[in-house]
Amino acid sequence: MTLKNKNLVTNYSSAKFSWLKSGGNISHLYKVHNQVELNKLFSQNCINAKSFLVIGNLSNTLIKDDGFNGIGIKLLGDFTDVKINSDHMLVGAAVLDNYFSKFCYQKSIAGYEFLYTIPGSIGGNIFMNAGCYNQEIKDKLISVIYYDINHNKIFEKNINDLNFDYRKGFQKNNSIILYGKFKISYKDQDHIKSLMQEYDIIRKETQPQKVNCCGSIFKNPKNQSAWKLIKSSIDESFYDGPVKLSKTHSNFFENDPNISANSISSFISKIQKRVKEKHNILLEKELIIID
Ligand SMILES: Cc1cc2nc3c(=O)[nH]c(=O)nc-3n(C[C@H](O)[C@H](O)[C@H](O)COP(=O)(O)OP(=O)(O)OC[C@H]3O[C@@H](n4cnc5c(N)ncnc54)[C@H](O)[C@@H]3O)c2cc1C
Repeated sequence: MTLKNKNLVTNYSSAKFSWLKSGGNISHLYKVHNQVELNKLFSQNCINAKSFLVIGNLSNTLIKDDGFNGIGIKLLGDFTDVKINSDHMLVGAAVLDNYFSKFCYQKSIAGYEFLYTIPGSIGGNIFMNAGCYNQEIKDKLISVIYYDINHNKIFEKNINDLNFDYRKGFQKNNSIILYGKFKISYKDQDHIKSLMQEYDIIRKETQPQKVNCCGSIFKNPKNQSAWKLIKSSIDESFYDGPVKLSKTHSNFFENDPNISANSISSFISKIQKRVKEKHNILLEKELIIID
C-alpha cells in the first residue's frame, strides 16, 4: 500500500511558510499524520540521511536558493496532540510552542511559560534544545520518542542518556522526533499567567517585532554575548539594505521578503568574518542553513 498523493506537495515553497519569508523549494514534501503513514512513506521510498529533511515551523531554518531535492517531512495530525497522563504529558512534535504554553496555562501546569514567546514547534525545540529566560527544553523533558529510519522502528530515549547542551538537542542522524514526554507540576494560574506576560514584555522590549527574522543568528560563545561581539566589530553599513542587522538587537537580522536565501547566507558569513578579524572568535550559527 502506498502513501496517497494528497500527502505529497511538490515544489513546496519554504519562502512562503518560513519566518524569514525566504528560501528555496523542497522538491517533495510529505505530510505525515500518523505512524501508519510514516511506515508507508519509509517502506515505499529508499530514504537515507542526506535525502530527507524534517521541517517544524521553519522559524530557525533557511533553505538555500537551489532548494532541497529530496524528501521533506512535515508532521501533522496525531503529532499535533497533547495528552495529559498522571506523571507526564505526551506532546506531539508538531505542537506549536505558543499553543502548548497556553494549553498548560489552561490546565494550571507550570514551567512552560517561556515557550509562550518562542515561535517554533516541540520537534524543533527538542532538536535545538530551545530556551530563553534561563530555561531550556531539556529541563522539562523526561524522554524523546523518535522514529529511526534505519531500523523502521520507534524508540524512546531518556533525557539522562542524551547529551543536550546549549542549543544542541536531539540531533541524531536518521531520526524523526515524534513526541516528547514532559514533566508535570501544577501551580496557581495567576502565577503562570503573570510569568507569560512578563516574558512577553521583555521580548517586545528587547527584540525586533513583526519583521522577517530567525531569532538569534549566532550562539553565544562561552561567557560572551554574540550581540556585543557583533556590535563592536561592524560598521553602520550593516544596519542598512535588504538584509540588515536589527538596531534593537545586533544578533538579529531583518530581511525583505523573498530576498534570496544565498544573500542572507552571505550576509551571515560577512558578520562572522568581521567578528573573527576583530576578536579572533568564530561565531557558531544558531540558524540551520540547508545547502
Ligand atoms: C522571532 C524569533 C524568536 C526566537 N526566539 C528564540 C528563543 O528565545 N530561544 C530559542 O531557542 N530559539 C528561538 N528562536 C528560534 C526557533 O524558534 C527555535 O530554534 C525553535 O526551536 C525552532 O523550531 P521550528 O519548529 O521552527 O524548527 P524548524 O526551523 O522547522 O527546524 C529547526 C531544525 O529542527 C529540525 N526538526 C524540526 N522538527 C523536527 C522533528 N520532528 N524531527 C527531527 N528534526 C526536526 C529541522 O530539520 C531543523 O534542522 C526564535 C526564532 C524567531 C523567528
